[in-house]
Amino acid sequence: MTEQLVQNYKYRRDIMVVLLMVTVFGGIIFSVINFYRGLWLLASIELGYGLFSLGLLKYIKTTVHFQRWVNIYIVPFFIIMVYGLSLPQSSESIFVWILTIPVISYLLVGRKLGFFYSTIFIVCGIISYHWRFISLEQQFSLNVAISANVILSALLMMAFAHVYEKTREQNEARLLSLAGTDPLTGLANRMKLNEGFQQLSALATRHNAPLTLVLFDLDLFKTINDVHGHSVGDEALRHVANFLKTNTRKTDLLARFGGEEFALLLVATNLEEGYAQIEALRKRLMTTPFSTAKCNIHITLSAGLSTYGRDGKSLNQLIAKADKRLYFAKENGRNQVIARDPDTHQ
Ligand code: GH3
Ligand code: MG
Ligand code: MG
Repeated sequence: MTEQLVQNYKYRRDIMVVLLMVTVFGGIIFSVINFYRGLWLLASIELGYGLFSLGLLKYIKTTVHFQRWVNIYIVPFFIIMVYGLSLPQSSESIFVWILTIPVISYLLVGRKLGFFYSTIFIVCGIISYHWRFISLEQQFSLNVAISANVILSALLMMAFAHVYEKTREQNEARLLSLAGTDPLTGLANRMKLNEGFQQLSALATRHNAPLTLVLFDLDLFKTINDVHGHSVGDEALRHVANFLKTNTRKTDLLARFGGEEFALLLVATNLEEGYAQIEALRKRLMTTPFSTAKCNIHITLSAGLSTYGRDGKSLNQLIAKADKRLYFAKENGRNQVIARDPDTHQ
């Protein structure tokens, strides 16, 4: 399943645990330091935030609202940082924390929100840090030099984090797409069909709309392999996959079900409408031969249909029904479409 591939953002939870541990430790240490410096407000906020992080530490590994908690955690984290940066009494080296903003943001909330948080809080952090020097009435040239260093290094960190996260997202999307694609035909595979069914059946239930499953099996395909060779068989499969793709709606879900078998989920289509569509498709395939360098190969198909609700609620139930009807089509002489059980078939 694709969720397993995405690992449920497990790496984000691991990063968050480390960050929370650092915050608990840092919150307590800095609150003590700032308490002795006389920064009461900052010391209290840091202590409170450290204790909040300690509570979150227990919860963060298992919560289903992980992303919500990340936001609840990092926004105040950055606000406290910006406040600390603005205080003339806090350490001058506090500016190094600005560099953690893009890394924390991008790793924990992804590229879009990471960009948003980084931009806002880096700008606020730099302005706050700048502010303390103005209030200390130090030389303008020193201000500019310090600010330029902070701005450039923060931008560099942001650029690195941005490129890293963008590449990671692209790789993840590519992996997910590959995991759901049949390599020979480029159609969806069975895993993708399962996932697609979950979504389409939920939509069908919500809108009280019909949903019909079609199972196709190519007729006497073994003969094509035997007569023309396996690689021509492969080409013939691609030809049929292409034919099905160009002769079905984009909103329907077409998949390679196995060897020379295909499955199609017809959205907003009942059994009768599905039968008419697939019957037309079957006839069209008869007039669309697969051309090799030596000859034209006429391919035919048999199909069995089942419909969501009347024939079952799960994909397995629908497959079992459609497969039974497909078997009947084969028994009955192939090259036909069956949408009813043998006893009720007309
Ligand atoms: P029927 O009309 O009863 O379905 O006859 P059939 O010959 O199509 O059925 P059968 O299931 O006996 O054979 C299916 C054949 O499809 C056997 C196998 O060699 C071939 N096949 C399955 N997958 C592939 C593939 O990826 N490439 C090629 N070239 N052939 C395949
Ligand atoms: Mg077969
Ligand atoms: Mg077959």
